[in-house]
Amino acid sequence: MKVQILGAHNLESQDTRCISLLVDDILAIDAGALTSSLSFPAQQKLKAVLLTHQHYDHTRDIPALGMNFFMHGSTIDVYSTAPVRDALLEHLLNDSLYPNFMEKPPEKPSIKFNELKPGRTETVAGYKVLAVSVNHAVPTVGYEVTAPDGKKLFYTADTGPGLDECWRQVSPDLLIIEVTALNKWAQFSLGSGHLTAGMLQKELESLRKLKGGLPQIVTVHMNPLDEPEIKKELNAVAAALHTEIKLGREGMIIEF
Ligand SMILES: [Zn+2]
Ligand SMILES: [Zn+2]
Repeated sequence: MKVQILGAHNLESQDTRCISLLVDDILAIDAGALTSSLSFPAQQKLKAVLLTHQHYDHTRDIPALGMNFFMHGSTIDVYSTAPVRDALLEHLLNDSLYPNFMEKPPEKPSIKFNELKPGRTETVAGYKVLAVSVNHAVPTVGYEVTAPDGKKLFYTADTGPGLDECWRQVSPDLLIIEVTALNKWAQFSLGSGHLTAGMLQKELESLRKLKGGLPQIVTVHMNPLDEPEIKKELNAVAAALHTEIKLGREGMIIEF
């Protein structure tokens, strides 16, 4: 499996992009940086987009992707839970802010929405995809993606602490997990459903206890304004756990 990080942050700038992952060039997870990171041919190569939740930094490129597929006369499959579809139709693809590409053009809509349910495994573009509920400010699922050769990625999406139930459902080779804020912002993180490095340590200790080991770990959704300090705090967690924790970056490719 080849996982490319197109967007690794929670703020956009010339140097940072909102969250998007790309699996084997054909399966995207979250749409924070799909159109800005991929050429038109690369966008047309996409077989499906999985969305974790409705927040703008994870769905923002869906209207632009819809327009690009409309102009190409093709259709992109988008998968998520029902609340995400409802939010897209109410706020973005509402024929006011932008056209409803789930119904346009009527003979062959540019976006085909497919509903996923937490706890259920579906086949998407040849991968087994399990949606797993996590703890965020709005209904959110992480995704365990299993390749035909059995290799597994688990991406937590945005989440606060308390992932024990989630860990019981997944067994990843590669864990992509969010760490948004500095340890001093723990209260803010708890309130908004995000993790600090200190919270990550507790979650990883639970995971190790449950599974007897840790997978490869990459963090995303960092606040770029605090990144040097977040890196220091993550290095301390890695040292305490005797493991390696990589900070995700735009353009990073992980093959396993
Ligand atoms: Zn969010
Ligand atoms: Zn986010």
